[in-house]
Amino acid sequence: MDSQIKETAKIIRESKFTIAFTGAGISVESGVPPFRGEHGLWNKYNPEILDLGYYHENPEKCWLFIREIFYDFFANAHPNKAHKVLAHLEQSGLLHSVVTQNIDNLHQEAGSKNVYEFHGNSKRLKCLKCGKVFDASEIDFEHIPPRCDEDGEILKPDFIFFGEGIPTAAFENAFADAEKCDVCIIVGSTGEVTPASFVPRAAKQNGATIIEINPEKTLFTGQVTDIHLMGKATVILEKLENQLF
Ligand code: NAD
Repeated sequence: MDSQIKETAKIIRESKFTIAFTGAGISVESGVPPFRGEHGLWNKYNPEILDLGYYHENPEKCWLFIREIFYDFFANAHPNKAHKVLAHLEQSGLLHSVVTQNIDNLHQEAGSKNVYEFHGNSKRLKCLKCGKVFDASEIDFEHIPPRCDEDGEILKPDFIFFGEGIPTAAFENAFADAEKCDVCIIVGSTGEVTPASFVPRAAKQNGATIIEINPEKTLFTGQVTDIHLMGKATVILEKLENQLF
């Protein structure tokens, strides 16, 4: 492992354009469970609650789960060492951007500036009628579903539900950076969610070196990945930071 860390640090130091691609795994050590796997949320909840069509038909029912998962539970999470190392790399000019599938805002809270939110952000809510955007801190979650103060319409969390498209700017920026980068660091993603998983694949096709940080093998491992640093995100990224600075 030590020689892999040294080799990876050298690749990052010599890179002209590095991006990170993160999934639910980077936030696991902040106490946010992933959707998939043994302790995943889909073992407890039916994914239907985040289906757009179902939401439109049953907003009140969906909101009970949405509040429990995203506003009672995610709300208490704080950035961990892995989020902080990525922010440090950006501040030091060693990382250009973070493309994240996560909706928990933890990269921004850790200090990352250039974050492309492929699936949106749970800290914002949006009125689907007038488009007004609300910060989650303004919302009284005791009274759900929350409603727009302009037109009374039910607010929807500003992360994408099943059946919704990827936010255009995040999609375009992510793929533009995937085409430019010479190194892509994947942290904590199964690679099962499309089209997000095409981002590291596009980087690979353009000749980038792909570094994967994950305690498990994934759909990227062996196919897309050049170096697999097998371990927890906090542990591996702290080792890399120690090697780089
Ligand atoms: P996933 O849930 O499919 O997979 C999580 C991956 O993280 C697995 O490969 C697992 O081995 C790895 N992992 C677990 N612990 C880890 C650790 N300590 N360090 C590094 N890796 C670790 O995640 P996904 O592929 O990102 O897809 C799920 C989708 O669900 C995402 O698109 C995302 O939008 C959403 N989601 C987001 C959050 C969040 O915002 N934190 C949480 C759950 C799900």
